[in-house]
Amino acid sequence: MAKITNGRYSHSRWIASPNYGKKIRPRLLVLHYTAVNLKQTINLFKGPGVSAHFVVAENGEITQMVSCDHAAFHAGVSKWRKRKHCNNFSIGIEVVNYGRLSKYRGIYKSWNKVVIPEARITRARHPLMKRTAGWPVFPSKQTAAVKKLCRDICRHYKIMDIAGHEDIARPVGRKVDPGPAFPMEEVKEYALSSTKVTG
Ligand SMILES: [Zn+2]
Repeated sequence: MAKITNGRYSHSRWIASPNYGKKIRPRLLVLHYTAVNLKQTINLFKGPGVSAHFVVAENGEITQMVSCDHAAFHAGVSKWRKRKHCNNFSIGIEVVNYGRLSKYRGIYKSWNKVVIPEARITRARHPLMKRTAGWPVFPSKQTAAVKKLCRDICRHYKIMDIAGHEDIARPVGRKVDPGPAFPMEEVKEYALSSTKVTG
């Protein structure tokens, strides 16, 4: 059974990000995709500027970079229900995935020109976008790790909801992550319903 002690999740490795803010009481989980690979994400969060509490690799391994008790800088201009500045009350989870792909001469590529094999793509239309596009699927090991992480956080803190960055970013349409390939409803069902379970 994974534990959270002083804001640190036991089933993860710790690599500190210098980018964190004031103490927070988490009420919301915000899910993102990274748009770059694991190493690039970790390097980005080690540099100046942005961060998230967690990064979940494609194989399900979890890296924690900011304590759950402090704000991380992942949401940007944002609003959830009537509350602005979601960084002040949310935990940010980055899921490693290249995000929306472009197709040229039958080949799918990420924004940074990584070729994604067709077997690992789902085609879908994002509700905030006009056209159908290719999106890399999230491997089952990865989504299982996200589900468990979310459930463990929900059991520890008074989390009221799980949202995608696309749901809270302002203006609406500024962000499209984690996108239509991510099983958001499945994660919510698994993580939020379990908060009512006792024993
Ligand atoms: Zn995001």
